[in-house]
Order: sequence, then structure tokens, then C-alpha cells
Amino acid sequence: MVDFARRGVMLVIASPSGAGKSSISRQLFAQDPNIRLSVSITTRARRTDEIDGTHYHFIDVPKFEKMRDAGELLEWAEVHGNFYATPREKVEERLSAGKDILFDIDYQGTLQLYENCRNDMVTVFILPPSIGELRARLDRRAQDSVGTIEKRLRNARNEMEHYSEYDYVLVNEDLEQSVQMVRSILASARLQRPRQTKLDDFVQDLKSQIDALG
Ligand code: 5GP
Repeated sequence: MVDFARRGVMLVIASPSGAGKSSISRQLFAQDPNIRLSVSITTRARRTDEIDGTHYHFIDVPKFEKMRDAGELLEWAEVHGNFYATPREKVEERLSAGKDILFDIDYQGTLQLYENCRNDMVTVFILPPSIGELRARLDRRAQDSVGTIEKRLRNARNEMEHYSEYDYVLVNEDLEQSVQMVRSILASARLQRPRQTKLDDFVQDLKSQIDALG
């Protein structure tokens, strides 16, 4: 087996809350062990189905400010009145090891990542098939109060204005199909030449074998 060593992919998936980003991500992780979620830090309250350290690292505002001021954050944003951020530490480590990272962040975070890591990134924006469907998905997520749902719908409108900043856009009508599309995007990103770090050696070896034939 040839060792096609490569640098990891930073796959950013963004969408308004309720467009299906989390379901797509879950399926992707189940089907592909080489990609893992970048666990963000957040100052928002933990929902009952969330696990600290798995879905987010839940921290308080003073701790967030301390990390931000110490330069420990790759990007950060305030969403729905709470802070969210990506800690810098683990990202480079994983990319160098050829492992992929999925970022579930909003457009503000994506733009900040573009500034620092554009060459490592592939970005996908997920749209809901309709606002009726988006609302239904938010309603089914019974954890949020009615007021919060209204706030999230308004925020969805704002998020959607940023679709053009992404490399790929897909309308999530059918979960399985959307997962397949994201997997295809990831598969082609992995094969991009600049990510394949041992190509020179490999091609040199092929050439040497031809030369050796006389
Ligand atoms: P939720 O509270 O529903 O988990 O997330 C709310 C929003 O915050 C989502 O749009 C999500 O993409 C965004 N978000 C989550 N983590 C991060 C992060 O680390 N950085 C940024 N910029 N946004 C994030």
C-alpha cells in the first residue's frame, strides 16, 4: 500500500440553526472515522442532551475573555448573545497528522478562519429547503423557548445572506443525499495536490523504477 501522506482538511459546515447541519455532521462522523469535530468553547448554557467536552466546552465569560486575550483562539464570535470560539491548540496538531477536522461555526468564524487558514479550508453552506421546514425543525427541537425560536429565525435570515462566501452550497432536502454530497466534497479536498505532502518522493520513486529498466 502506497503511503499517500497528506495534510488534514479543515471542513467548515455552516447553516442557519435547524437547516440540518448537525444531522449531516453526525452521519459524517459515523461513516468516516478520519474526521472529527473541532469542539468549540461557548458561554451559552448547556442543553440537557449535550455533554461537556463532546458538543462544546462550556465555560464562563471571564474564562472566555482570558483565553481570547491570551491569543488562544483561532476565531471567535458572539451569536444569540453568547460567545463561541475555536481553541487554536489542537487544530494544527491534527492537520499535521493528516487528520481532518469539521468546524460547525457561523459565517463570522468562517471569515476569521479564511484570514489565517484559507489553504487548509473547504467550506460548505447548507440551506433549508423552505422556511416552513426550518421552522418545523426548530419547533421539534423543543429545548428552545418560543422567544428563542423567533430569535433563531431572524438570525437564520442574517446567516443566509452569507452563502456566497462559501466554496459549496447545498440545499438539505434529503439527509442521506446531503451526507453523500458532503462526503464527495471531502474526498476531493483530500486529493488536492497541495495537501499531498509526499507526492515528490512518490513520483521520484516511480521515475527511478522506469530508469532502472534501462
Ligand atoms: P448553537 O447554540 O445552536 O449550538 O450554535 C449557535 C451558532 O453558533 C451556530 O450557528 C454555530 O455554527 C455557531 N458556533 C458554534 N461554535 C462556534 C465557534 O466555535 N465559532 C463560531 N464563530 N461560531 C460557532
